[in-house]
Amino acid sequence: MKGLKLASLKESGRSKVEVGPVTVGEGFVIIAGPCSVESEDQMLETARAVKSAGANMLRGGAFKPRSSPYEFQGLGIDGLKILRKARDETGLPIVTEVVDPRDVPLICEHADMLQIGTRNMQNVALLKEVGLADKPVLLKRGMFSTIEEWLNSAEYILNEGNPGVVLCERGIKTHETYTRNTLDLSAVPAVKELSHLPIITDPSHGTGRVSLIGPMSLASVASGADGIIVEVHAHPELAVSDRDQTLGPGQFAEIVKNVRALRSFMEKGSAKR
Ligand code: PEP
Ligand code: MN
Repeated sequence: MKGLKLASLKESGRSKVEVGPVTVGEGFVIIAGPCSVESEDQMLETARAVKSAGANMLRGGAFKPRSSPYEFQGLGIDGLKILRKARDETGLPIVTEVVDPRDVPLICEHADMLQIGTRNMQNVALLKEVGLADKPVLLKRGMFSTIEEWLNSAEYILNEGNPGVVLCERGIKTHETYTRNTLDLSAVPAVKELSHLPIITDPSHGTGRVSLIGPMSLASVASGADGIIVEVHAHPELAVSDRDQTLGPGQFAEIVKNVRALRSFMEKGSAKR
């Protein structure tokens, strides 16, 4: 792909990105947690549940870029403190979204990985700022963006000196309305033939429906993704944001079991060849 100096495939092979004790690009990484941090009890209860189900990392939004200014915008710095507590208790590294370049230093103090959301994928000021940070970045695909535009956004981050970029396919807008977005799983093998960067998928935002998260998580494994990020809440019926796509602990545990089984089946198959 023309113009990609740093994000394109390289002789030295695929990159791995360290996030605390976790390596994205090695094995299959499962990131789970609520859409938003709502309270200490909610976050800690959810963190314990996803840890015992086998998650590798925790997610939770403290700064929420909501579609409407009248919806819950997140707990901000109090949310970051709660996330840190959840990390200290469970040992699971934290990824959380940054929506404002001015918040990057603050979020770096509390989190292990910075998330750039779909709405900000082409926010060049924000991309440059996280490119200067010393924390890895989870770069979600813009809901209206091509793969080329997405990789160019990764290029902005790499070009500032931050090598820790993980891509996340979270679904794009199509004419379909039954699903919230269309999870473009063909982007996974496409990115693998264009770039050395690891790529995960987000079957929660990619479908918007609890019933579709399990099947699309398995399909993500089959597509060759390096992991998934899914929304889980200890009491999903009480979730303040993205309730329709939020798994309960039991549903999440079942998905982890199935995903791990499929991945290990695939690894055995490739070892035989
Ligand atoms: C999220 O992860 O909660 C989120 C807002 O994701 P996206 O930017 O993909 O919509
Ligand atoms: Mn969400």
